[in-house]
Parts: sequence; structure tokens; C-alpha cells
Amino acid sequence: MAYSFEPVGVVHSCFHEKFAIPRQPSLAAAARGVIELLAPYDKPEALAGLEHVSHLWLLFVFHAAPSGPDYLRVRPPRLGGNQRVGVFASRSTHRPNPLGQSVVRLDAVEPGKLLISGIDLLDGTPILDIKPYVPYADHVADARNDMASSAPALVPVAWKPAAWQSAREHALRLQQPVIELIEQCLAQDPKPAYQQPGPEREYGVRFWDLNVRWHYPQAGCIQVLVVEKQP
Ligand code: SAM
Repeated sequence: MAYSFEPVGVVHSCFHEKFAIPRQPSLAAAARGVIELLAPYDKPEALAGLEHVSHLWLLFVFHAAPSGPDYLRVRPPRLGGNQRVGVFASRSTHRPNPLGQSVVRLDAVEPGKLLISGIDLLDGTPILDIKPYVPYADHVADARNDMASSAPALVPVAWKPAAWQSAREHALRLQQPVIELIEQCLAQDPKPAYQQPGPEREYGVRFWDLNVRWHYPQAGCIQVLVVEKQP
């Protein structure tokens, strides 16, 4: 048996590389994107009724991750990156089929576009299907997952004054909550859990068209060093 699917849309996201994307949706409310719907799903009749819906399930392709039958056991970052679990006990991107699922906030519906936030999706992610979140059915009050029982602990994020000023200016230019995006994503502590960097080690990532650099002045504490437009 083999099945093939065509995308119904593609995501234009604030995240232009996988590093520093939150590990699940809803962890960074300022993480925004747009689903550009592809014909014929860009027609108003496909979107009618969405005005009644606050959140969507997105079914998508991990287009930038390897997949296949080799991935029976994976190392979730949540368990420190060195403990293995069965792939079906994990939300890892490395899976038999490269399928992801995220609940995101639907902020607005525009012709041929859905504006979304709280995303964990790389720019260019193909969307295979979109479904409304149904609170009474999808929220399971007594659900448990002992490997991920609550959201990850947050790391405090401080700023060099020049980096904060630059982020503020670019937020106005982009009309995006750049300061919140940086703070919410870095507070998740993107570096691998096993790394213990000294203050001289810098990390970097691209959000929108911005290069963001930071370091750990001491363990468990981040300082944003630079926010600048990509050359
Ligand atoms: N919420 C989804 C799920 O449970 O299926 C994704 C969870 S996965 C652990 C989240 C990570 O996937 C992000 O931190 C990011 O690094 C990665 N990611 C997001 N979009 C991707 C894509 N299109 N291709 C490959 N990796 C992607």
C-alpha cells in the first residue's frame, strides 16, 4: 500500500532555520506565520466557517528532516538528548513518515491566506490538511505523559541595550513582535541540554530576516548580544 498527498498550502514562517524553533506549538505566542493556500483550496468556499474557530490542527510534512524505517528509536531533546525511546512514544521529526501535527491559533482569514501564531513550523513547511480544533473532543482533562508532564522550564533572557534597541526598530519595520519572539524562543533554551557553554561561546539564529546572537553569561541565563538585518 502506498499513498501520495498533495499539499493544500505552504507556511511562510518567522523561523528560517530549525534551531531555536520551540519544540511544540503554543510555547511562543509571538511566533507568527501565514499559510498560503494553494489552488483550488485558496477559494473562499474552502474557508467558509473558519470565523467560528480560534485554533486549527495543522497536518504537515517535516520537509527538512530525514525519515524512513531506520527511525525506530529516537532521542528526544526533552529527555536531555541522550536517552532513547521508541519513535511512537515521541514527537520527534525523525519518523517512519515525515508527518507533523500542531495546534496553532488562527488570528485572521484573508483571501487565500490564514494568519497563524504560536507556531513551531519552519518556513516553507508544506501543509497537507487543516482541521478545526474541537475543545470538547481534543482537550483530554485526565491525559498524562510522564516524559513531558509540563512545559519546559524557562530560562531568563536579558539584553545588551543596543540589541534591544535594534530589535525595537526592526519590530517597527517588520510590523512583528520581534522582542517578544526573541524572548519567548530563547527562554526555551534552544541549545542542546548536554552543552555547558562558557560566556565566550556565542549562539545565533535567524528569525524573519534578522540574525540574532546570544550567549550564556552564566549557566541558566541568556543575554541577547546582537540583533541585525541579514546582509
Ligand atoms: N508539533 C509537531 C508534532 O508534534 O508533530 C512538531 C514537533 S517537532 C518536535 C518540533 C520541531 O520540528 C521544531 O522545533 C523544529 O525544529 C522542527 N521543524 C518544524 N518544522 C519542520 C519542518 N518543516 N521540517 C523539519 N523540521 C521541522
